[in-house]
Amino acid sequence: MNDREIIRRLLEIGAGDGVRDDAVFAAARARLASPDDFDSLDAVARAAYQTACDKGWHRTREAAAAEAASVRLAMLFLATHGYGADDLAPLADVHARLLRAVDLADGVDIPAELALIHEEVSEALQAYRDPRMHPRRCYVSRGDEIVDVTDGMGAAGKPEGLALELVDVLIRVLKLGVAARLPIAAELRRKMAYNAARPARHGGKRL
Ligand SMILES: [Mg+2]
Repeated sequence: MNDREIIRRLLEIGAGDGVRDDAVFAAARARLASPDDFDSLDAVARAAYQTACDKGWHRTREAAAAEAASVRLAMLFLATHGYGADDLAPLADVHARLLRAVDLADGVDIPAELALIHEEVSEALQAYRDPRMHPRRCYVSRGDEIVDVTDGMGAAGKPEGLALELVDVLIRVLKLGVAARLPIAAELRRKMAYNAARPARHGGKRL
């Protein structure tokens, strides 16, 4: 199975043939240099992470490194202009914190990120429970009403539905992988290979 097929299958989890991955990924794909880049799950993950950085949710390692260098310059300037260690202590704290952000995963609040993945799972359950929404359709809000936009492209508004919330889970997982340098794509291959080799209904559990 190549990366493109892996991505397609992940997107179809729980949604079946009603999912339009073009609609789901249109914005992300526009960020990439060419559609071929979507052959790589790593490229999708980097795009998800970069979008989160662009929107102010993460500080990139490059930005943290630049800020740390600026703080260090300021400390050197002050040290050569008569300021002592006590004066520089607050700046030293900031400098140390920025260096940790450069190094990550200290710069990523992993428990918070896991909680946010939980939140998206809960939103998927809410979408599934909403009697106005078919699980395989995509909707946008119009005032107090929701409009089915599954078969249209470019509809203004936030797309909602079961598949979209599962995509949010996927985006958060992939983004966290990049931010915390977790080898998601490599371990995905390992775990899928392991699962494929397991016996039928392994463990004898009911579900
Ligand atoms: Mg969501």
